[in-house]
Amino acid sequence: MERHGGLVAVGAMTDLALRNVQVLDGNGGQAFAADVGITAGRISDVGEVGAAHREIDGLGAFLAPGFIDTHAHDDGAFFRHPGMHFKLAQGVTTVVCGNCGFSAIPADPTQDVVAASGGILAGLQGEFTDLNGYFSAVLERAPAINNMMLVGHNTIRSLVKGDSQEEPSAGEMREMQGHVESALEQGACGFSSGLIYRPGRYSGTAEVLELAKLAAPYDALYTTHMRNEGDDLLDAVDEALSIGRQGNVHLHISHHKAAGPRNWGKVGASLAKVDAALAAGQPVTLDVYPYTAGSGRMIEYFNLDNPSAELARVIRIASCPAFREYEGRMLVDIAAEQELSLQEAVRHVLTAPWAIAPSVFSSSLTKAMLQRIWLTQI
Ligand SMILES: [Zn+2]
Repeated sequence: MERHGGLVAVGAMTDLALRNVQVLDGNGGQAFAADVGITAGRISDVGEVGAAHREIDGLGAFLAPGFIDTHAHDDGAFFRHPGMHFKLAQGVTTVVCGNCGFSAIPADPTQDVVAASGGILAGLQGEFTDLNGYFSAVLERAPAINNMMLVGHNTIRSLVKGDSQEEPSAGEMREMQGHVESALEQGACGFSSGLIYRPGRYSGTAEVLELAKLAAPYDALYTTHMRNEGDDLLDAVDEALSIGRQGNVHLHISHHKAAGPRNWGKVGASLAKVDAALAAGQPVTLDVYPYTAGSGRMIEYFNLDNPSAELARVIRIASCPAFREYEGRMLVDIAAEQELSLQEAVRHVLTAPWAIAPSVFSSSLTKAMLQRIWLTQI
């Protein structure tokens, strides 16, 4: 509806008025009734809004600024799906990428970063090597939402040391530090680790601390997918807290949980540790899934010599290029159908010859590729 008249000049009219809405402005207060005006693509008024070229009746619904998804692995999605509809449809207008130690940068175009990440970074395109280059490549695609980046420990370690399980030499440590500092200098919002994954799991606490503390002068974060989220959850929380404390850096624990039935309830003890740290003045935050499941690369969760049947019972295959027909199905059902034991079913999925994948991933079989299989625990 278009309304002209009064003292409002047509040229100054609001482009779009959202009326009859309850505004949650993101500052933590109660919702309040207001109109919201938008002009030239920006919020121009919150409160009373005069005539507008277009009006939308919110019918009393809540209106909020775009949500920030603090835990995303969308580094490559910005290339595949720059419209980012799967995020926008959820109200998300900013994502934080580079989580769990895997980030698009730093990169060496001659190395396969996607394979090194086990597929987490799938979708990346271009020849960039650093954060400036990555942002330029993303911006060329005119992405629909904002992207904040963490620089990841696993990615840096793979770049500098490949698959090596050895401690970094002094020279390698300097090289890794250089990558962290360069990313922070170019606008990374923090340094992330994924100590449950390879190669991060080969790193001692001291190595991670030396890198995490570089975030402090930038007022950036140290975020971590901790070394363990099950039987050794409490030790992992202690390690994370000690890195934050010693590095004098804000610690953010990613997807905090106690996985596995025998560990259920441990979050009481782990949150008590976080509360004690907060009470002592240490900056700590964490995020959680809004559902009772987790996901990850299936290969990381099983010892193929003796796969845990207990874990296998709660696995749902989310993505499996070798057996597309298994996607979305519980492993127990697949095992029954194939007349396999649960342990055999785990090996069947994780050792599948890649060449039978009915997709483009048919060229070669590598362990990293098999790691692209994901699981969901319920
Ligand atoms: Zn993670």
